[in-house]
Amino acid sequence: MAKYTPMIQQYLEIKAQVPDAFLFFRLGDFYEMFFDDAKLAAQELEITLTSREGGGNDRIPMCGVPYHSAESYVQRLIERGYKVAICEQVENPATAKGVVKREIVRIITPGTVMDEQMLEESENNFLVALFTQPNRAAVASVDLSTGELHVTETQFDIATLIDEIESFHPKEVVIYDTLEAKHPVIEALRTHVGCLITPVSYIDIDHQLLATQFPRYQEICNTRPLQEVLQLLYGYLQQTQKRFLNHLGRLSRYDRRQHMVIDESAKRNLELQRTLHEGKKKGSLLWLLDRTSTAMGSRMLKRWLERPLLSLEKIQTRLSIVAAFVDDIIFLDEITSSLKEIYDLERLAARVAYGSATARDLAAISRSLERIPKLKQMLLDHPASMVQQLGHMIDPCEEIYKLITNAIVDDPPLSVKEGDIIQQGYHAELDQLRNIQKNGKDWIAQLQQQERELTGIKSLKVGYNRVFGYYIEVTKSNLRHLPEGRYIRKQTLANAERFITPELKEQEQMILNASERSVEMEYEIFTSIRDEIGQQVHQLQHLAERMAALDCFQSLATVAHQQHYVCPTVTEGNDMLIQTGRHPVVEAVVDQYEFVANDIELNPHDRQILLITGPNMAGKSTYMRQVALINIMAQIGSFVPAEKATLSIVDRIFTRIGAADDLVGGRSTFMVEMAETCRALKEATPRSLILLDEVGRGTSTYDGMALAHAIVEYIHDHVRAKTLFSTHYHELTALEETLPRLFNIHAECAEQDGKVVFLHRMLPGGADQSYGIHVAELAGLPAPVVKRAKLLLQELEGQTEVAATTSADVSLPDQISLFQTKLFEQEQVREAPISSVEREVLEQIERWEVMN
Ligand code: ADP
Repeated sequence: MAKYTPMIQQYLEIKAQVPDAFLFFRLGDFYEMFFDDAKLAAQELEITLTSREGGGNDRIPMCGVPYHSAESYVQRLIERGYKVAICEQVENPATAKGVVKREIVRIITPGTVMDEQMLEESENNFLVALFTQPNRAAVASVDLSTGELHVTETQFDIATLIDEIESFHPKEVVIYDTLEAKHPVIEALRTHVGCLITPVSYIDIDHQLLATQFPRYQEICNTRPLQEVLQLLYGYLQQTQKRFLNHLGRLSRYDRRQHMVIDESAKRNLELQRTLHEGKKKGSLLWLLDRTSTAMGSRMLKRWLERPLLSLEKIQTRLSIVAAFVDDIIFLDEITSSLKEIYDLERLAARVAYGSATARDLAAISRSLERIPKLKQMLLDHPASMVQQLGHMIDPCEEIYKLITNAIVDDPPLSVKEGDIIQQGYHAELDQLRNIQKNGKDWIAQLQQQERELTGIKSLKVGYNRVFGYYIEVTKSNLRHLPEGRYIRKQTLANAERFITPELKEQEQMILNASERSVEMEYEIFTSIRDEIGQQVHQLQHLAERMAALDCFQSLATVAHQQHYVCPTVTEGNDMLIQTGRHPVVEAVVDQYEFVANDIELNPHDRQILLITGPNMAGKSTYMRQVALINIMAQIGSFVPAEKATLSIVDRIFTRIGAADDLVGGRSTFMVEMAETCRALKEATPRSLILLDEVGRGTSTYDGMALAHAIVEYIHDHVRAKTLFSTHYHELTALEETLPRLFNIHAECAEQDGKVVFLHRMLPGGADQSYGIHVAELAGLPAPVVKRAKLLLQELEGQTEVAATTSADVSLPDQISLFQTKLFEQEQVREAPISSVEREVLEQIERWEVMN
């Protein structure tokens, strides 16, 4: 190492601390990168790769970015999943002996970004830490940009852990490097969560330090996994942020079972936050419900939807506030427009505590705080006690408001290092410095007149430039009028000469000194105000939380009013009764015709399972989803799309809907289907809701039907969860006779001019199975095939034995599914023995193919 120059040696020493990050090494006005960092950065950032001498045999690859525009480069690297360590000069280069001292001041990683440009307004930016033991595990999740910090402990179960972590949509997961790379939990993180995984070596942090940072540490982290996970998370934050993080004080602990559990695949299937096919927010339940006016409200609503409540009391409180808003639309409008004037206090507060807030951020806080007293009064004046209660809970943070408005100008500049931030009259010494500047400038302004009178030169000018400062300019033709000795020549131009006088320079020095000192002083005053507010960050965070909740209530009430929802009655029982229920999103987007509303009644005692039959496109899965969505909406405190709804608390929703392959996970549709079904059978309780859509169709007909049959029986006899089960296996409708809590319903269809019309109405009883052929006809299947299929159907109807009483006793498949099986799963057909009927159909298809 000795061969390199001292600066390159310093670089290498610092770089060794952050082998997994780009080191932005401050050199004057640039951040430079060297060696491999430089080569990769030049490629990733599309900047020029150069080289320099560094004392070694070869020139050292180098590239750099200007410090004032570094943010956009950092952003690009972070977005690509890299980390960036910022290394600054920490002593004044003018007075330094030898190489200027440098230190890493912060490591920016995808999970720890703070800069506004790098964050999505309405999304959290979570960093998750995972600690595992053989039987137990703990997860800690922090959003540095908002100050939220949650911990939870669970059994060591990979599916549950991954679900828990995925629910935060983290940008980065931190683990101990003792967890080997091939550990199943890491493999699962890679395939399912897919964000940056950062292994770190063991971090030993004093419990006392944690107790200082988190006032409720002892009470909340009372088990080893919780202590370990917080230690890991906090240690990583210390390593990367290198500062006290006052805004993380609100540590909270939760238990997965305190909320309705909707695992990630169910969230996807129900399109809670994103649509299934395009992955867009538009078209999801969140999109429909999100009419929030603030970014913090939007983030909170998303969290509500992630974790619907289980506490009847809390649900009823939320519902009654929403009800009060719905009953008073004028009031609701006023609240909505007041909230629109409030900035993202949560992130502003975090930036203040973090030390990155600008004067503009403080001005945004004060402009928001200005609105609070009126908003609070509006809530206090409302007749509903629930709403008044909200008003009482708001603390307008008057001290902070006064501090900012007294100290900071209304419209400060972006930079905090160039002055013009602090109000006149706030700080006596600063005012004095400003007076000196002002008097000096006034003196100079008068100088031109005085000098003209003194010399008689009318064209004499007083000017200023950066190099020479203030000067007196006289044209060459007038030089002879200048008195001897008083003027000192400074610069010669083509037609003029520039002079200074000792008094002019004295004034100039005073102005410059005062201006330099006042800019410094403004920065000092600004940071002390920022620190002072930083000390009270919890107050601002509380207010932000209240505003966010108010915004969520406002949003739910607005949607309820516009979409004509009703307030559900949520009871302690276990009954579900929805009259004329609708699918909230489908009814909102399908406006060319009216949505067909449907009822539902379910309870675990005598009406536990509904077996739904009907052809494709008849509305079965829409109906199933709508039942789940209505329950979820009620449990976040929203009104529901129905005329009347009596609901009870659902502890968990399981779904097996659609055929979304787990392509990333590399499992076949059938494997996913069985894994999801298996989870439902194992984990559902009588308070759960299970939605199974055509389970079994991923395998051969016989297998599939046998499985479907066995699954329904098991749910009926052992699980007792409320269940909606749609199926193509018509034979299963016979189960109604043997399973007392199972009822058949079907999606009504009608025939018009020989074509099928879907009426989307759910009626008691099984479907008429021949609609499958009509649907095929609609899809354009050639007439001879349709005709032949109809014939075969009649033949089969005469032969088929329908009743099936045990899972082992499986009857023949109906000809429609058989038909489809042959079309799409010819591989499997070859394995199964072919009956004469099947051969007929196959031959039919072959002929059709030949005809085409
Ligand atoms: P299935 O699951 O029976 O194949 P879907 O539930 O996917 O059918 O519904 C098919 C289409 O019919 C949906 O895309 C939707 O636009 C429409 N639809 C479903 N239910 C209704 C309804 N109750 N009212 C109006 N249109 C509906």
